[in-house]
Amino acid sequence: MCAFQLTYATMFDPPEELHTHFDEALQKTRASLGSEYGMIINGEEAYAKHKFESRNPANTEEVLGIFQTGAAKDAKEAIAAAKAAFPAWSQTPWRERVVLLRKAADIIEERLFEIAAVVSLEVGKNRMEALGDVAETPALIRWACDEMEENRGFVAQMGTDPLVGYHATNKSVLRPYGVWLVISPFNFPAALTGGPVGAALVAGNTVVMKPATDTPWTVRLLAECFVDAGLPQGVVNYVTGSGSVLGKALVDSPDVDGLTFTGSYDVGMGIYRGFAQGRYIRPTILELGGKNPAIVSRHADVERAALGIVRSAFGLQGQKCSACSRVYIEEPLYDQVLDRIVELTSQLRVGDPTDRSVYLGPVINSSSYRDFLTFTDELKEAGAILTGGVPLTHGDFIKGYFCSPTVVADVPPNHRLWKHEMFLPITMVHQVKSLAEAMTLANDVDYGLTAGFYGAPEEAQWFFENIQAGVNYANRPQGATTGAWPGYQPFGGWKGSGSSGKNAGGHYYLQLYMHEQIRTLVE
Ligand code: NAP
Repeated sequence: MCAFQLTYATMFDPPEELHTHFDEALQKTRASLGSEYGMIINGEEAYAKHKFESRNPANTEEVLGIFQTGAAKDAKEAIAAAKAAFPAWSQTPWRERVVLLRKAADIIEERLFEIAAVVSLEVGKNRMEALGDVAETPALIRWACDEMEENRGFVAQMGTDPLVGYHATNKSVLRPYGVWLVISPFNFPAALTGGPVGAALVAGNTVVMKPATDTPWTVRLLAECFVDAGLPQGVVNYVTGSGSVLGKALVDSPDVDGLTFTGSYDVGMGIYRGFAQGRYIRPTILELGGKNPAIVSRHADVERAALGIVRSAFGLQGQKCSACSRVYIEEPLYDQVLDRIVELTSQLRVGDPTDRSVYLGPVINSSSYRDFLTFTDELKEAGAILTGGVPLTHGDFIKGYFCSPTVVADVPPNHRLWKHEMFLPITMVHQVKSLAEAMTLANDVDYGLTAGFYGAPEEAQWFFENIQAGVNYANRPQGATTGAWPGYQPFGGWKGSGSSGKNAGGHYYLQLYMHEQIRTLVE
């Protein structure tokens, strides 16, 4: 790739070269649509009796690929392969694991455009969002490798006991758990599979990964990168199938030693409770939903605030865990900011996400599309829809799940949708008399993932001190609540948004994949 560093903050003004490469890759990808893909278990292709199709949400007549409906038997085989591979992989010197993982990161980067073309077709992400998702994946893997190195493999000499007549050495070693399960969501199939997989592997665990049913192709391509990097057989396994059957069989297995689940609150809490039925406590990293607020003070820069809010509310059709779904604006600027939000929103282009001029593609599936109809009906009753509020059904839109970006005002603060993650291109705006009122409302949800603020610098400090969320931005035009990047904005949530309190792509994350062992030797 060129010298340009793609992140979610830089993606709004990419060099032309990026578009050229993406168009070439898209053409190549389109030529291979409809192929069948196996699962990868113990380094071998594995096929199931039943198959499912992955279809393009922008054009549901288009079959992207055919995938295996894995069942309990496949879960068992994948876990057995990972278990058998664990002793050798965990004993492989950590520096060698780092070399292999860096190689996997390099391969993903080499295939950036091919994988991004698939992400765009499979998820409905616009091309820059798709490129961002894939580019973040090697960044997360490399971050995990860097952390391993900076901490010298997490082997630390401790103090020497004050023992008279003996000499004791004490060492702390962080060691991997065993078989690590990674279950990922549809919306960031690359980064949110590859990131946790990379961390688990570099730490010395072996992995079984299961993507969302809507996004098996992207994750298959990622799995191939890990295999092609030369990871030994069974160290990384890829299985596909429904969450309710295959996912449940994986979670229920006593041979899984730890898991990372990224997805909805309801499924995540179910997994948390189910996983607790084992004989003892196993590490459970949950990255769950969000209901992310932006607060706009009377001292805000109107243009920055409106731009950041619109980008975060409608990027990826509002289907980001970090999407800005609630906006609280102080009275003196309310009309001005709201008018500009509505104006910018009505200018957003909806359409084929692979088209370079499009900002919003389709929503992911028929269930999300139906939710859009239900929620907008409910919001029409409760408040005022200022723009959007309808599905797009004219022309080619009828073939996909296209929804108009929707801004809603005047919904009473006790309405249930202020607290419910809709996960759609809908944002709700509310006028407040003071910043204190805004903060009370912002924190009055079970979630605590991301938050945004626009106002004076000293107000921003107050915002950081008082907001209950893991990732917070002030005065950011690139996104009020979205756009974190490993190493800059480690990503994770508080309260119902996450279980560990430590953010991916930060300094305290990799340790979650290892348990500590103290070694005292008395001579
Ligand atoms: P989801 O419906 O909860 O599914 C997530 C994953 O869990 C999928 O692979 C799904 O498989 C699987 N699954 C479903 N039921 C399962 C079960 N009983 N046992 C084991 N696995 C099961 O979430 P989604 O719709 O894909 O993603 C959107 C959600 O993810 C939103 O709530 C969003 O906020 C959240 N998210 C959070 C973060 C974060 O970092 N905090 C990041 C991205 C997304 P199937 O697809 O086969 O059902």
